[in-house]
Amino acid sequence: MRRQPSVLIVEDEPAIAELIAVNLRHNGFRTIWAMDSASAQREIDDLVPDVILLDWMLPGETGLSLAKRWRKNERTKAVPLIMLTARGDEMDRIAGLDAGADDYIVKPFSTKELLARVRAVLRRRAPEEIGGTLTIGGLSLDAATYRVTFNTQLLKLGPTEFKLLHYFMSHAERVHSRSQLLDKVWGDHVFIEERTVDVHVKRLREALGVQAGLMIETVRGAGYRLSGQAVMAMQSPSLG
Ligand code: CA
Repeated sequence: MRRQPSVLIVEDEPAIAELIAVNLRHNGFRTIWAMDSASAQREIDDLVPDVILLDWMLPGETGLSLAKRWRKNERTKAVPLIMLTARGDEMDRIAGLDAGADDYIVKPFSTKELLARVRAVLRRRAPEEIGGTLTIGGLSLDAATYRVTFNTQLLKLGPTEFKLLHYFMSHAERVHSRSQLLDKVWGDHVFIEERTVDVHVKRLREALGVQAGLMIETVRGAGYRLSGQAVMAMQSPSLG
């Protein structure tokens, strides 16, 4: 039998935790519930889960602070982490992503959306890498030869667009804020405006063409992500 992925739910409101747990269990996940930061840490020390759902507002240490701590820790730094937040404020979403969250969900959310996001972070945590080539939904990037192809057709990209795409493909399905992209793709160039990111994302989409360009998604109020889902849904299963 296939192993059931485990989800640690860190949420102080029992009704919400129960709703999430029931839905996840119905869909083949194993769930562990922690109602505060101390018990969440105990669960993590005991067993590293496959996914963490982390509420922002917790009694004692906040979810944001926990996220930062887990990202710095060797055992937990690669675990997909989704923040649950009642705060729809843009600055708060960015703070969550900057703390290392892979995604966030604003309360109230639908359980369908929650399941979709949990599956997405699990599916695309690590991209397929064969011989230094990253491949997602027909799009391939070879870092050694600087070649990018979509369905075997060669694409022409500028150096910044290439670096940007390489970063997106190495961290697929994950939302990146503009400041994170500046940090990771441009380096610590504090004098570059965040608008620069938008300009290069636009150029990247143009270079990828209509179909592959759809893979670079704008996440309102948060930033950008590369997702293989849109393109995979358009292609026939035999090409999949
Ligand atoms: Ca709460």
